Parts: sequence; C-alpha cells; structure tokens
Amino acid sequence: MIRVTIWYEMVQEAGRLPEEALPKDAKEREELLAHMAKGAEAIKAVYPKGLMGTLADYLSKCEDMEVTYVNLFMPEYGLPEELLNNTDVLIWWAHWSHGLVPDSLAEKVRERVLKGMGFIPLHSAHPCKPLQKLLGTSGSLKWREGDACRVWNVNPTHPIAQGIPESFELPEEEMYGEFFDIPKPDDLIFISWYRGGEVFRGGCVWNRGYGRIFYFHPGHETNPSYHNPYVLKIIENAVRFVAPVMWRENLDCPHVAESPESKVRK
Ligand code: ZN
Repeated sequence: MIRVTIWYEMVQEAGRLPEEALPKDAKEREELLAHMAKGAEAIKAVYPKGLMGTLADYLSKCEDMEVTYVNLFMPEYGLPEELLNNTDVLIWWAHWSHGLVPDSLAEKVRERVLKGMGFIPLHSAHPCKPLQKLLGTSGSLKWREGDACRVWNVNPTHPIAQGIPESFELPEEEMYGEFFDIPKPDDLIFISWYRGGEVFRGGCVWNRGYGRIFYFHPGHETNPSYHNPYVLKIIENAVRFVAPVMWRENLDCPHVAESPESKVRK
C-alpha cells in the first residue's frame, strides 16, 4: 500500500483564516471574512465534496493507495511528525497561507523527501516553502484568472503520462505562464498552452536525494480541473511514480549501507 497524505490549506474553502492571520481592526476583519465567505460558496458550487475532498475520494478508490486527508487548521498544522513519518507520498495544495507554515515543518518535509518520500505540490503550491527549500528557487510565475488551457503531453513514454492523450483541454483554468522560476526539470512531461498565447512548463519532475517531486499546475479552486479524468489520472500515475522505491531502508536509515571497503560521508 502507498500511504498518501493530502495536505490542504483549506483557508478559502473554509472561508476562514487562523486567528494569527486575521486583521486586528474589527471592520477590516469583518470585510475580509465576508469576502472569504463568498469565495467559499464559489468553491462549493464547483466542488460539493471540497477541492481536495474530491481528489481524496478519487485516490481512495485506487486499491494500492491508503489516503489520509489533513488541513492547516488541525493540530500541528495537520502534519504531526508521526503522520509525516508514515507518509510515502505527500500531496500539497496551498494558496493564501504559505507564510503560516512554519519553517521547521517545511524543513521536516524537505528532509523526508531527501530520504525518499514522494512530494506532489499542486497548482498554487508552486511557491510553497517545502518546494522552495527543495528546489532552491522562488517558484514564481505569471498568472491570470479565467483562461482556457491545452495540456500537451511532451513525454509520452514517461510513467506519469500513461493513459494520457497527445493533448487535452481544460476549458476553464487559471493561466500560469513563463518565466517559471524553477531549476531545469529532470523530466518535463506536460507543457500547457493558453488562449492568451502563453506557454508553461506545467508538469515537471525533479529528483532530490532519494525522493522524487512532481509539480502539476491545474487546480484553481473555482475551476473544475479535479473533475477532469485526465488530470485525475495524471495525479494517480504521479503518486505511483514518486512513491519511494527504496523507502523502507532509506527512510529508516537515509544513507547507503556501508561496506567494509567504503564509507559514506554523512
Ligand atoms: Zn489559482
């Protein structure tokens, strides 16, 4: 079984922010919460089961996956050490609250990935702290809401691209465009094109330590991309691809076994 943990910020969907992130001024706070309540309704209209609830539902039906679904509002930001240590693949969706994730938690995620845990940041997780720490770049990009997107499969023999046609369309999706501030991917699997003319390296794999990372761009909270069968299939394939190959040994003991002839510098 692949133990998948979906970490979801949930701020917009819940229509609330953790207390420390709310404005101190009562009027400002009220206006912000009213604005957020409208946003939450818009998400519910597209995803009655929730944005990541929909993805959790889909992945739970895969016989080789065991899915745990957590969010920022839970104790220890939803990711206590015991859960992180029992996760093979961590999916991460965040937008408003990258700054609320403590550096220490982002560092723990980075360390787990280096030891073999798979990591799949989705959509607006492009500048999340764990990914920045793993890639060493900002993850910044160009964006515009309300475009249509054609996703091109530019690496059809890759395991993540299995069952995916040459291209498919997402009639409503946020434009994410270049320059995308990332290191050169180890595998580029999907390139997206938008009606506005932009292109974007929207499906990228990196290897870091013993771990694999897959970033995939669809998933704006008010667009129905997580109902699209190809988007879901890509994420399903990605979970299997980034799942640790040598994880049982490596997660317990991150370094290659030492032989009498050679030592590993730690
Ligand atoms: Zn978005």
